[in-house]
Amino acid sequence: MLEHWAQEAGGRARILVRDVKPVAFGGSLPEAQVDILIDEGGKIAAVGRGLKADAETRVIEGKNAYVSPGWVDLHAHVWHGGTDISIRPAQAGLQRGVTTIVDAGSAGEANFHGFREYVIDRAPERILAFLNVGSIGLVACNRVSELIDTRSIDMDRSLAVIEANRDVIVGIKCRASGVIVGSWGITPLKIAKKMARIAGLPMMVHVGEAPPTYDEVLAVLDPGDIVTHCFNGKAGSSITEDQHLWDLVVKCAERGIRLDIGHGGASFSFKVAEVAIRRGLKPFSISTDLHLRCLDTTVWDLATTMSKLLSVGLPFDDVVTASTTAPMTAVGLPVANLLAVGQNAELTVFDLVDDDLTVTDSLGQIAHLTRMFEPRFAIRNGHVAEASRYRPRQRAPMPRCGFDGCGAQQD
Ligand SMILES: [Zn+2]
Repeated sequence: MLEHWAQEAGGRARILVRDVKPVAFGGSLPEAQVDILIDEGGKIAAVGRGLKADAETRVIEGKNAYVSPGWVDLHAHVWHGGTDISIRPAQAGLQRGVTTIVDAGSAGEANFHGFREYVIDRAPERILAFLNVGSIGLVACNRVSELIDTRSIDMDRSLAVIEANRDVIVGIKCRASGVIVGSWGITPLKIAKKMARIAGLPMMVHVGEAPPTYDEVLAVLDPGDIVTHCFNGKAGSSITEDQHLWDLVVKCAERGIRLDIGHGGASFSFKVAEVAIRRGLKPFSISTDLHLRCLDTTVWDLATTMSKLLSVGLPFDDVVTASTTAPMTAVGLPVANLLAVGQNAELTVFDLVDDDLTVTDSLGQIAHLTRMFEPRFAIRNGHVAEASRYRPRQRAPMPRCGFDGCGAQQD
């Protein structure tokens, strides 16, 4: 992908996107199909009907597809080679319709420089990061905990790394579940919160197996902070099995604590999502938690995750907003007038198509999806990438556990 991109880099041309329906652009939304002309510098030059293309202009036929701000995956793992769990950005990025990938704590202060040099600065996608509060990040994910005891966190070094990378570090990540923190409990989360306050950044907290409990985690957070794996169905951590927790989550969401899907291998339940949405509690953002252990099993890509949320009752416009402007606000990206002339054109062209697809959630519950988000093109920095949904590889049977990648499923 990188090589392909580099080959294209010399040849930026004007781009005309024809016959697309804008969605999730907020107040500036045109009502029907439009054409969008993008200049050689990657900026929007005109929006309207019947725009003309000269011989030099690359024409993208939208054929009445939708166009939204570029899709954002607020929780993925792309420190490929630096952790045992991460995929390459290209596997979750432009070719899947995603223009911004937010890495959720793959790197800590000790290895962030490599993540930046070898991945972030080379990818055609915008890659932002939540810095893991644990110095080592997810080097050997779920085998060597990043939060064993006080020696796992170095406040001074972490703050220095944040200062040196303010353009790409957008928050602090803490995995607050028992299998990671052991008997250390809630303390690393409190240290992470202190770090986030000093740095003036939000934090993203992973909830899972207690301790600490979901309730305890919420008590530490402020508006703007993100709870990922919000609709997990784990015993003791499911918001629909405990009225007290449910009431607390509703109150926190009203206060501005952001509920993020973070599907992953272990953390999304159709049933919890369906009940929550039916009762009026919508997720703030839709994200995949894509990593090597769930790419070919439960998750596949952002488009499939969006389709799952559509299938459990989240309205179409809300699905698109939760995959574009909502996560953009969570990481400080501007969202006003994104289709105005002069703005950088960062767009995803996609369809909603009929299908009949059997998928599972993280608990193995099966669902049949009949309406699928299907990305067609991703546009960023004056380049066009063709996009499609990911078709998972056949899962290879393994004698020990049934399927490859079925081992540790914490994240
Ligand atoms: Zn994750």
